[in-house]
Amino acid sequence: SSTVVWLRRDLRLADNPALLAAAEREAPVIAVYVLEDDTPGVRPLGGASRWWLHHSLTQLAARLADRGGTLVLRRGNGPEQVRDVVGAAGATRVFWNRRYGHGRHADAELKEGLRAGGVEVESFAANLLSEPWTIRTGEGRPYQVFTPFWKAFLAGPEPRVPLPEPADIPAPSIRPATDQLADWGLLPTRPDWAGGLRETWEPGEVDAARRLEEFATGALAEYHRRDEPAVEGTSRLSPSLAFGEISPFQIWHRLHQDLPDGARQNQGKFLSEVGWREFHHHVAFHAEDLAQVNIRRQFDAFPWGEAPEEELDRWRYGQTGIPLVDAGMRELWHTGSMHNRVRMVTASFLVKNLLVDWRVGEQWFWDTLVDADEANNPGNWQWVAGSGADAAPYFRIFNPLTQAQKFDPGGQYVRRWVPEAESDDYPEPIVDLAESRRTALDAYELVKRS
Ligand code: FAD
Repeated sequence: SSTVVWLRRDLRLADNPALLAAAEREAPVIAVYVLEDDTPGVRPLGGASRWWLHHSLTQLAARLADRGGTLVLRRGNGPEQVRDVVGAAGATRVFWNRRYGHGRHADAELKEGLRAGGVEVESFAANLLSEPWTIRTGEGRPYQVFTPFWKAFLAGPEPRVPLPEPADIPAPSIRPATDQLADWGLLPTRPDWAGGLRETWEPGEVDAARRLEEFATGALAEYHRRDEPAVEGTSRLSPSLAFGEISPFQIWHRLHQDLPDGARQNQGKFLSEVGWREFHHHVAFHAEDLAQVNIRRQFDAFPWGEAPEEELDRWRYGQTGIPLVDAGMRELWHTGSMHNRVRMVTASFLVKNLLVDWRVGEQWFWDTLVDADEANNPGNWQWVAGSGADAAPYFRIFNPLTQAQKFDPGGQYVRRWVPEAESDDYPEPIVDLAESRRTALDAYELVKRS
């Protein structure tokens, strides 16, 4: 008898409850990853995420092999492929770590079907500090506001201690058929746009652990400067959290161990940002479809404009003539990431100054971010657009020039990405900021009245 472990966004050996439970059965283990381009409720990965996935799986396969393990690769419909592997291996158990988006419905169906066929199925809590259905308001409803949500979380049970890596992960003597990673075409070829990603990132569990340690003993002490994009003042853990190369339990516990003096005072603030990740997943779990449907349905009445593709491209590729916006969009295109403050500014510019539907921007971020996350990305876009849970009030419209003065006063960040900003070659702004602001506020009147 053997155990199939279906890995999804939990590409790690440490603190992996499903994998550890399988290894402890002292029977062969077959780890499976399915490139789910065809599972109902699961959004196919964007381009930058595919690049990340390729490298993360490469490392994971090697680390599994070091412990005697094997990784089977499949693509298509997740549950169908898992059923096929179970059949081919004659497995008697299937374990996985839970996911919380709409893909969970496919998982529930799979669980039921396998159990009906006599297969033992178990799912585990691994990727959120709190299961989204456990935190409820006094009236028993899900939270829509962050602060009381996080307060309720902090008043609850202490997050569990991270689990060790399994020492041995015995592979079966006959391995079910597997795809070759290289055949999936996850890496760009022509044009090869991934040079900046390669320079910036090292995907995989090993570097994620290094980033956490380096942050806890280094930049955490500067975390009060996290809003300044020129400062490397944040953890850079988001892509690793998105792919589950590191768990929030590992982060939580590292932050509760020894920290340098200056760092301790920023611990609570940093963990509350991890709390926003919990919150967006909580909201997404209870929402219809966070990437498509306004949480505040009044926004269905918002008169989004039809921006021409050419104008959208100027936003996408950082040619709007607004230096901070262009800097952010170029950082995103080049590195697969963007500083959080600048994400807010570029998103606000698209949604409020260009009056473009937030879903258009969300899709671009989905395709270009290495940390693209099915709850955090639409959750934050809805936050910026004003349509989300606990969102920024719509009428508070960022002025990208004032934001630059405030958070990039020396101009280092803008100069790094838009060195020509002060020259004649630099384009004129594509909109008048003051006028477009007034138009946006007029449009918002329709939402208020509906
Ligand atoms: P740190 O400041 O070190 O924070 C630690 C962790 O807390 C992050 O890794 C992340 O998991 C979590 N976190 C921090 N801020 C937020 C937030 N506002 N919402 C949710 N979680 C947060 N984050 C994503 O992980 N994936 C996305 O697809 C994503 N899309 C975004 C889109 C927009 C329009 C905006 C405004 C923000 C988006 N964010 C997203 C949130 C935030 O910008 C990133 O999590 C952060 O910049 C990652 O850098 P870091 O790991 O160094 O953050």
